[in-house]
Amino acid sequence: MHVDRHYDVMVIGGGSAGVIAAIQAGRAGAKTLLIEKTGLLGGTLTNGGVNFPGLFHAWGRQVIAGIGWELVSRSVAEAGETLPDFTDYKRGHWLLQVRVNAFLYAALSDEAVVAAGVDILLHAMPAALTEARGGDGWDVTLCTKTGLTTCHARVVIDATGDANAASLAGLPVVIPEETQPATLSCLASGYDIAQLDLATINRAFDAEVKAGRLDYTDASWDTTAANVGAWLGQRGANASHVHHINARDSAGKTRLELDGRGRLLRLYRFLRRQPGLEKLDIAHLAPECGVRETAIICGKRTVTAADYCSGRRWDDAVCYAFYPIDLHTSDGGGLRVAPLSEGVVPTVPRGALLPEGSRNFLVAGRCLSSDRLANSALRVQATCMATGQAAGAMAALSAAKGVDPEEVPVVNVHALLREHGAIIPE
Ligand SMILES: Cc1cc2nc3c(=O)[nH]c(=O)nc-3n(C[C@H](O)[C@H](O)[C@H](O)COP(=O)(O)OP(=O)(O)OC[C@H]3O[C@@H](n4cnc5c(N)ncnc54)[C@H](O)[C@@H]3O)c2cc1C
Repeated sequence: MHVDRHYDVMVIGGGSAGVIAAIQAGRAGAKTLLIEKTGLLGGTLTNGGVNFPGLFHAWGRQVIAGIGWELVSRSVAEAGETLPDFTDYKRGHWLLQVRVNAFLYAALSDEAVVAAGVDILLHAMPAALTEARGGDGWDVTLCTKTGLTTCHARVVIDATGDANAASLAGLPVVIPEETQPATLSCLASGYDIAQLDLATINRAFDAEVKAGRLDYTDASWDTTAANVGAWLGQRGANASHVHHINARDSAGKTRLELDGRGRLLRLYRFLRRQPGLEKLDIAHLAPECGVRETAIICGKRTVTAADYCSGRRWDDAVCYAFYPIDLHTSDGGGLRVAPLSEGVVPTVPRGALLPEGSRNFLVAGRCLSSDRLANSALRVQATCMATGQAAGAMAALSAAKGVDPEEVPVVNVHALLREHGAIIPE
């Protein structure tokens, strides 16, 4: 196979986890390529409109730091904003997430990735992954705007969120029969919620649902009753659910985007007919539906809900994780939340980032090996960033030593991560 370029590390997917993985690998001296299918780094944080990463703190102390925290706190500082008071941890967990400006986060990511010496290729996707002859890595054929190109990487990190690279490499993945609903976020303007008669609007909305022209979840997560106030109060941000579509491939993503925008259009048309909403405007639309769940790898280790909720300290732990179990559903109120017991801080084993039967291959982000309930908590951004940094460190060390990531002593991984500001479970 003709290979156009050689890299130590290739990160596929420049989202919450992938950006951090690429920066860590680059800062550790690995020749690194970052591939992203869109034109914007940041993934769900930017393209999905979920610009409130959490949770870096548990029970009043910081448990995730490193490169993700560096980008998040710099985004806040550069905007002249302030961080939440993390010591006041008895408040709702969502109040301890850090609101960031998506533009700043994306632009600071560009800057940090370039400063780390990483090559970036936007608007590109992998078309095939083949183990290189001699087993010294992967030949990855990329689909670019002007055709196919092939690059060799000693280690590949799948940070697509959807285990796309793992699937292309022929590694086993788990695709749940039912996935959590997705959400299309926007920013609605042109009304004053205090002036609206929400009870009347809800009654009109209910009648439209009963007539089959709207769905309750067009305007909230609740599948059982009209709650237009939820959507109007949040100005369309993270306030609806799009159900029953697995968006791990292009066909699924297409169905999801069309369904999400179709729902928003019918809601928009309905709302503009209501008193006080005649000038409703969709001032900003997230470029993509935010996707909560699609596929995960079968890892050498799998984090179960019991491991997660008991705060199991894995002997190969590479980072902490912290968030309630947070399963979005297509029935009832649309959400099942179970907070962790006070003092519990779960950890992530490196085995959950290593696909079973793989060589020179890692994952980072929400497609790590875990059961559905554990994944509903592990998928949040701070944890994805921490797994990204861990994968980037392992990949850089593995490429430098010419060994599989699993053969790099975990103490060496910890040492490199600490050098780059990460917090390692004790
Ligand atoms: C509506 C919603 C609300 C949420 N609320 C919160 C919250 O309150 N707090 C929180 O912390 N988390 C929240 N999350 C979860 C969190 O945002 C995501 O789980 C997390 O960002 C996933 O990170 P990731 O790096 O795995 O994937 P992503 O951030 O999605 O990054 C994947 C990247 O890979 C790219 N990509 C995908 N496929 C390919 C391919 N084949 N080739 C090349 N590039 C590819 C994508 O374009 C993207 O840039 C929410 C998620 C959703 C959808």
